[in-house]
Amino acid sequence: MKRAAAMAFVVLASVSCAGKPVASPAPGNASPRSHETPESSASAQATAEPSTASPSPTAPPEFSSKVSRVSRDQLPYSWRPGCPVPYQDLRLVTLTYWGFDDKPHTGELVVRKTVTDDIETVFKKLYDWRWPIKQMKLVDAYKGDDYDSIDVDNTSAFNCRPATGSSNWSNHAYGEAIDINPRENPYVTANGGTAHQNAKKFTKRPTDGKGVINPGDRVVRAFAQVGWEWGGYWSGTKDYQHFSKGGG
Ligand SMILES: [Zn+2]
Repeated sequence: MKRAAAMAFVVLASVSCAGKPVASPAPGNASPRSHETPESSASAQATAEPSTASPSPTAPPEFSSKVSRVSRDQLPYSWRPGCPVPYQDLRLVTLTYWGFDDKPHTGELVVRKTVTDDIETVFKKLYDWRWPIKQMKLVDAYKGDDYDSIDVDNTSAFNCRPATGSSNWSNHAYGEAIDINPRENPYVTANGGTAHQNAKKFTKRPTDGKGVINPGDRVVRAFAQVGWEWGGYWSGTKDYQHFSKGGG
């Protein structure tokens, strides 16, 4: 119920941001044209003036999130028969995130149904901090191609694929891992390399920059509080974009 109310607020807020007048006629005021007293005349003028119609028309909406079931058709590339988790155990989380453009956006993540609370808890904090995320689409928008999704700096979670450089399933295949701002937080090999040209200036830690995750920072701590470990703490290879439930 709370979530439904929050979503309704989002819709209202975006309408008011679009510049539409939000003032509605007062109930019981039969004729808005009548000017019986100077007071009502003044109030009519005030409501006609856009600058005084709303106290904070540009205030961003509160964080909102919604968890829903996914159909097979919604995961045409990221799920297939033989994956370690049936798609019936996955959930779509639709949530607000703060963008690199300093504006609120709506993103989508698919995760296992057992971890939706973890995701909502962390992403509410990130949004309230105005911690910026470049974009958030399902990896299916990139035909399930991890490289392409990373190259456009896409934040995503579920993908039924092996771990990088391994024949074992990745934690992403279980819907229990997420990659955040992968350009600013690259996968870095033990010799300091990254497969992505646009990520080369982000291979060292600590480093400054929008959407960068650093050792011990509030993003790492927020995930740790719900039992998710950071790939930046791995020895040898570092995966600065990666958080997973219980590590790995
Ligand atoms: Zn990952």
